[in-house]
Amino acid sequence: MRPVRPSKRKKPMRVPKVRAAFRPTKPRPRLPASQTPLLSNADEITRTRAEAATAIAEAQKAHERLVEAIDILPQGIVFLDSEGRYILWNKKYAEIYNRSSDQFVSGARLQDTIRIGVARGDYPEAIGREEEWIAERLAKLFHPSGSHEQKLSDGRVILIEERLTDDGGLIGLRVDITARKQREESFRLLFDSNPVPMIVCALDDGKILGVNDAAAGHYGYSRAEFKQLSIRSLQAFDSEPPWADERESEEQAARTWKHVRADGTLIDLAIYSRHLAYEEKPAVLLALMDITERKRAEARLAFLAQHDALTGLPNRNLLRQQMDEMLVHMRRGSDKMAVLVLGLDNFKSINDTLGHGVGDKLLRGVAKRLRSVLREEDIVARLDSDEFAVVQGGLARPEDAAQLCRRLLQAIADPYQLDGHSVVIGATIGITMAPIDGDDAEKLLKNADMALSRAKTETRGTFSFFEAGMDARAQRRRRMEIELRDAIRREALQPYYQPLIDLSTGRITGFEALVRWPHPERGMIPPSEFIPIAEETGLISALGRLMLRQACHDAAAWPDDVRVAVNLSPLQFRVGNVLSQVMDVLKQSGLPPTRLELEITETLVLEKSGQVLATLHALRALGVRISMDDFGTGYSSLSYLRSFPFDKIKIDQSFIRDLAANREAQAIVRSIVSLGRGLGVIITAEGVETEAELRCLRGEGCHEGQGYLFSRPRPNAEIVALLNAQCGADAADRGARVA
Ligand code: C2E
Ligand code: CA
Ligand code: CA
Repeated sequence: MRPVRPSKRKKPMRVPKVRAAFRPTKPRPRLPASQTPLLSNADEITRTRAEAATAIAEAQKAHERLVEAIDILPQGIVFLDSEGRYILWNKKYAEIYNRSSDQFVSGARLQDTIRIGVARGDYPEAIGREEEWIAERLAKLFHPSGSHEQKLSDGRVILIEERLTDDGGLIGLRVDITARKQREESFRLLFDSNPVPMIVCALDDGKILGVNDAAAGHYGYSRAEFKQLSIRSLQAFDSEPPWADERESEEQAARTWKHVRADGTLIDLAIYSRHLAYEEKPAVLLALMDITERKRAEARLAFLAQHDALTGLPNRNLLRQQMDEMLVHMRRGSDKMAVLVLGLDNFKSINDTLGHGVGDKLLRGVAKRLRSVLREEDIVARLDSDEFAVVQGGLARPEDAAQLCRRLLQAIADPYQLDGHSVVIGATIGITMAPIDGDDAEKLLKNADMALSRAKTETRGTFSFFEAGMDARAQRRRRMEIELRDAIRREALQPYYQPLIDLSTGRITGFEALVRWPHPERGMIPPSEFIPIAEETGLISALGRLMLRQACHDAAAWPDDVRVAVNLSPLQFRVGNVLSQVMDVLKQSGLPPTRLELEITETLVLEKSGQVLATLHALRALGVRISMDDFGTGYSSLSYLRSFPFDKIKIDQSFIRDLAANREAQAIVRSIVSLGRGLGVIITAEGVETEAELRCLRGEGCHEGQGYLFSRPRPNAEIVALLNAQCGADAADRGARVA
């Protein structure tokens, strides 16, 4: 219902001061008295009346225009006189207060209207403190300062602005801000209860103006504490605020930030910012996405992509990168850089026999020891399962690199205590020097690799420098591998046999099968040249099977009391089932198991693997004899003899050399012989070359001998003759000795 408004028709108007602005458009100019023309009194009165009527009509008209004008305003407007009485109001004003005609009367006092409203409960904030509220309201009315908000009982919020006029009256403005208030309220709700931490900062100085619960919880500051901070004080490193211009640049949006929490911990954040006005001031709303976990996962992935998961060392990729950096530095100075590739000796057998768990621990142990020898700025990386690379810059001479190698080898050599095993591992190193041998990472690694391959075949357990020409050698090696593979496939390899002599009777007890490779161009190639290649490439298992088969077939045709000894590489135990291979071959050849001896080296026993020992026991249970070859070399330990009941121990030929002259060698042979007697094991001396050595061995009571003194290894065709000669010469002094 539209409230009654002061009617321009019914009642005489109290013309407000504002009316002055709507004066008749063309007032008549007043003339000074001296110029006043003389008129008759009646005329004067008539004219004056007419003028007054015109003025009133014009004023009326101006008033009507004013009312029309204020009626179309979107805000409510009210004019009060100096006593607070209504003079004029527009439609919107009446609409806002939704008043009925009884309170809206021209001349009624606003304070009375207010009182009536209070009594009716129009102002929810007044309920319970009516007088106080009215007093406050009236105080504002006559001492207006800025604006204030007023809540109405129907939920609306009205913004009130009042200003005194020159004549002590009042102009009041009313704006219905309910919708804006609701928006603000829902924004506040959205802000406060948002699970995303949010902060509002002042645009100019970054001072924190407000935070939501999530932000308070996330940072560990109370809301009050937050108000003391600025966004910069939260930032760990950067000094600029996390917002760019009004339009966020893309890179700004993609940036991440590190913030410090109340407890000092760092968090990674993606920050989304929006400019807005907060309490009338330009501000920025920041939504903070904690991406610490994601960052951590990313960092972990990046680390994994560049590191070896087992040892945590850089992998080949990172190594190359780091080498490139070092090479750049090196080019600027006069220093040299050493690139080492270090290979563990026989690591695969440890892995296979003691299990991968022990193998892994060993690798970690080795990595740790390598690191301990190096300086912070040196690089150590893992290249392959049993290969590491070490790069050291700032070297003056190659001798410095040699010194480093010695330290590394020494560090690795001490036994490792792993899961109750005492494990010993050796290493071999290939070295190349930059810039002498090359100045790019790829080439240097290749050089060091070649130097390592060479060292492995020639000086295992030490180090060797890359030399120009190694490349050609490496190619020869690759060619050899191809040819060896082909030779094995064609069964072109054949065993030569070297007799084992009973030193007390001089009779042949058996023959050791030693592989020979008759090469069409290079003649007979000795095993020392191709066994290491066969072991490295895995060809050894095929080679070993071939030798076993040929030796058993050949031996089956020999006299019943002559045995054959076959060498087994530790690697053969890893691939393929040695036990079933031996059983098959014995069956096919018809050779009784008691006539077969298998020679193994201590590296196999060193591994103390349950599976290896079980195989050895099973073979022995068949009647096959097991010999320990090359005793006294490597890491000989008497405990190996306890781990398996060997049938024979073969003293390495290095002890037989100079036996006649060297007292230490004599003492060693003597103790091994007495050890054998105590354990009931046959002792065989390898590499017997002279009569003096033979006499000495006989003197010590050594059971068996093998060596050039008796015979060089010979093809099977010659063996039969040799055995026949033995039969003929049975009575002879030195048995089957052949020069
Ligand atoms: P080994 O098992 O210690 O074999 C004995 C080596 O000593 C043989 O060398 C033999 O010719 C050599 N020899 C024998 N008597 C004397 C002597 O009086 N003086 C000197 N200086 N040397 C003597 P060969 O045939 O060159 O074999 C070298 C190594 O190659 C063998 O050492 C063995 O470890 C390996 N090997 C040979 N054949 C096979 C095989 O079929 N399978 C495996 N896995 N390894 C084999
Ligand atoms: Ca042997
Ligand atoms: Ca040997």
